[in-house]
Amino acid sequence: MKKLPDRLERQIEYCPTSGCWLWIAASARGYGRVDVNGKLSQAHRVVYEILRGPIPDGLQLDHLCRVRCCVNPDHLEPVTLAENVRRGIYLTTICKRGHKWTPENTYIVPQTGARQCRTCRLKRGARNSAAYFRRNQAACNERNRERQRIRLSDPDARARHNTLQREARREKKA
Ligand SMILES: [Zn+2]
Ligand SMILES: [Zn+2]
Repeated sequence: MKKLPDRLERQIEYCPTSGCWLWIAASARGYGRVDVNGKLSQAHRVVYEILRGPIPDGLQLDHLCRVRCCVNPDHLEPVTLAENVRRGIYLTTICKRGHKWTPENTYIVPQTGARQCRTCRLKRGARNSAAYFRRNQAACNERNRERQRIRLSDPDARARHNTLQREARREKKA
């Protein structure tokens, strides 16, 4: 197997979990950059060509791992520009479980600004409640019976119960 020159080797941090070779030196738009004979080139292309040979004319290297600064040739596949664009769009228009990122299906986490798929959130929420109910079945049943009793008893208790519920809901929203 061909080896990278030390000069390049030193710029790489190997990620043990993903297998990515992270280019820790200069980068532009997330892609590693390297000086080759006084000319700045894309690090992943340079590393690929040293270890695998020339990239066929007109082809781009697609990051299969989606980590732009990764230079591991095993994570790179030469593809046409059209294919690269198609893959990029495909990845950004659906969530990782295949739901479309439409405005209606997109939830922005208020604290972090992160994007979440609403369909996945709902499914996760339903799964979590079902699991919670299973774990605490006795307590849940008891609470439900208690609620039932309150609903059926005198109007005062019912009013108090309703007020509490409203407050709880308001707290949850806040
Ligand atoms: Zn990678
Ligand atoms: Zn989803």
